[in-house]
Amino acid sequence: MISLGLTLTILDFQNGRNLTSVFLASLGVTVMFSGPLIAYILTSGWLLGMFSIAYLRFFHTVADSSLIVTMVFLASLIFVFGLYAEHIRLKANLSAVRMRDLTLHDQLTGAYNRLFLNEYIQKLISAKNRYGTTLSCILIDIDHFKDINDTWGHPVGDRVLVTLVGTVREQLRDSDTITRMGGEEFLILLPETPLYAAMIVAEKIRRITEKIPFNGFTLTISLGVCEIRDKESFESVFRRCDQALYRAKDKGRNRVESCMECSPVTSPSK
Ligand code: GH3
Ligand code: MG
Ligand code: MG
Repeated sequence: MISLGLTLTILDFQNGRNLTSVFLASLGVTVMFSGPLIAYILTSGWLLGMFSIAYLRFFHTVADSSLIVTMVFLASLIFVFGLYAEHIRLKANLSAVRMRDLTLHDQLTGAYNRLFLNEYIQKLISAKNRYGTTLSCILIDIDHFKDINDTWGHPVGDRVLVTLVGTVREQLRDSDTITRMGGEEFLILLPETPLYAAMIVAEKIRRITEKIPFNGFTLTISLGVCEIRDKESFESVFRRCDQALYRAKDKGRNRVESCMECSPVTSPSK
């Protein structure tokens, strides 16, 4: 019906002929059919309504005025139903998007969660392998977070987590992501970023974090940075990041370490 309406409209303007009655009659015939055709019209009704309204300006040339009244009524009805159907559809889509968004984020900090990471990392790694681009990871762990909780209380600890994620996000590009791996540990994925650039980002995050003005204490973090190797699995690069992170903890915390010489994990059981 839409194509018919459109074709007739174009023909109408091109040839200077008025095909309004043909269009309205075919619309009427269509409306009289029941079943899927009606359903289709309901969902696309607003378009049909538009076409019908566009034809209103030719009404004075149509002889049968009762036909016009009927068709205007039908067109308006279709228009309203169409809008309503569109409204319902948009609302359903919106809540589906919201639901999916909720399931992929950590509720406290708003960072992504492991569910997101599991899906996303596979896409990143296959894109990296196909196009030969770089991909780096930064693993962050808050230093002595237990002490913060014990001294200042759990709600303050929660606020620290939220503030840290907000601060880190401000330092990242749109294509970078931060995922809460659990507790006070976060993983940043930096697509198209080689190790040296990821080290610069990590150091910037470390320096900014210790400057966040908390009441009564200074927050510090330790960071492990790695660039994923050719055909390396996520488990392997994550293990190397973890080794780098614990090296940073060993060396006194509040520092960035990489793990270039760490050997990749070959067996998934390790
Ligand atoms: P380290 O410097 O070695 O990392 O020491 P740490 O105290 O940060 O590490 P540890 O693993 O001993 O303690 C982590 C603490 O994080 C313990 C746990 O209660 C706290 N924690 C985990 N999740 C949350 C959370 O959602 N909110 C708050 N407030 N605390 C949390
Ligand atoms: Mg910690
Ligand atoms: Mg930890």
